[in-house]
Amino acid sequence: MTKTNIGPINYQLMLPPMIKRNYGKWKTHRIIDTGVIEHVSQSGEPLYTVRAGAPKIISVYGVREICDLADKFCDGYLKFTSRTNIEFLVTQKEKIAPLIAELKRMGLPVGGTGYSFKTIIQCPGWLHCHTAIIDSPGVAKALHDALYDYFFRDDLPAKLKIAIAGCLNMCGAIHCSDIGIIGMHRRPPRVNDEIVTKLCEIPTLIASCPTAAIRPKGKSVEVNPDRCMYCGNCYTVCPGMEIHDPEYDCLSIWVGGKATNARTPPAFSRLAIPYLPNHPPRWPETIKQTKNIVETWLAHAKEGERMGDWIERISWERFFELTGIPFTDKHIDDFIFSVPTFRTTTQFRY
Ligand code: SF4
Repeated sequence: MTKTNIGPINYQLMLPPMIKRNYGKWKTHRIIDTGVIEHVSQSGEPLYTVRAGAPKIISVYGVREICDLADKFCDGYLKFTSRTNIEFLVTQKEKIAPLIAELKRMGLPVGGTGYSFKTIIQCPGWLHCHTAIIDSPGVAKALHDALYDYFFRDDLPAKLKIAIAGCLNMCGAIHCSDIGIIGMHRRPPRVNDEIVTKLCEIPTLIASCPTAAIRPKGKSVEVNPDRCMYCGNCYTVCPGMEIHDPEYDCLSIWVGGKATNARTPPAFSRLAIPYLPNHPPRWPETIKQTKNIVETWLAHAKEGERMGDWIERISWERFFELTGIPFTDKHIDDFIFSVPTFRTTTQFRY
C-alpha cells in the first residue's frame, strides 16, 4: 500500500475558522492602506491582511513577541509569505491600527503591498554554509536600508523583487528576480592533496565537476584551469578543493528575471555587472549600483513594466546606455549551450 501523508502537517488543520468558511470563495481583494489588503468573500465577510517585513533570522524572543501580537489582534492566526514577510490575518477592522502601532514599536515595517519594493530573499550565507562567497544577510541588510522608503510606496512602475545568493548554487530566487546579487569566485580551486586524499571520495569529486575540469593525479586530483568555470561544486563535496580567495572573490549583479506569467512569460535574469568588490560591512559599490539600476528603471519604465519587461522594450543596448554600466566581453555568453540564444539578425534596436 502506498504510504501517504508523510510530509509536514496538513495546513488545513491550522486554518483560521473564517478562512475555512470561505476557502476558495474569495470575491475581491484590494489594498486599502500601505501594507493592508482587504479580501471580501462571496458571503460578504471581510478579512484584512497586515503585511510586515521581517528579518529572516529571528530569535525565539522575537518569535514569541510576534505570536503575542497574533494572539492579541488576530486570534493567533498569521502566515509567512515566500519573501519572508509576516502576514497577520485580522477579521476586525478596528484592530488594524493598534496592530500596526505595535509592529512599528517592534521595528517591523508595514508595507510591501502592490507596486512596491518587496522584502529581499537571501540565502543563509556564512550563518551555516561553507560554500557562500559573501555574507548574504549582511548585503541584504545594507540594501534594505538603502531602499527602505520604496517598501512603503505603491507607485513604482511594478513590483520590485530582489534576491541575494552567496554562490552560484543560488539558494533564493536570483534567476527569477528583478535584481539578483550573486557572490562569485574568479579563480579555479587550489588542490590541498592532504585533505583530498584523507577526506574525499575521488570518483564523487571528479563527477561533481560540470565541465570535467578535474582529473586524477596520483592519489589526489588536479584541475584543468581552462575548463574550470569557478562554480565551486567541487568544494561543496570536498573541502580540499580550496576555492575561497579574498583577493578575487566578488559580487555580481543580474537583472530582468521574473517567475510570474502575468503580462509576459517568466524570464531568467541576465548579467548586468560581472564584478563588484566584496566590501563588508556595507558593500557601498554594490548598494550604489543597485540603487542606480532601480532609479533608472523608476525614471523610464511604463506602468506595469517589471525590470525585464522594461529592458526588453527599450533594448539591452539602451539599458547599458541609460544606467551607465559599461558593456564588456564578460557580458557575452560563450558557453557551449548558449548558441541558440544568440542574436542572429542585424536588427539592433536603439
Ligand atoms: Fe569544476 Fe566548478 Fe570545481 Fe571548477 S570550480 S573544478 S568547474 S567543480
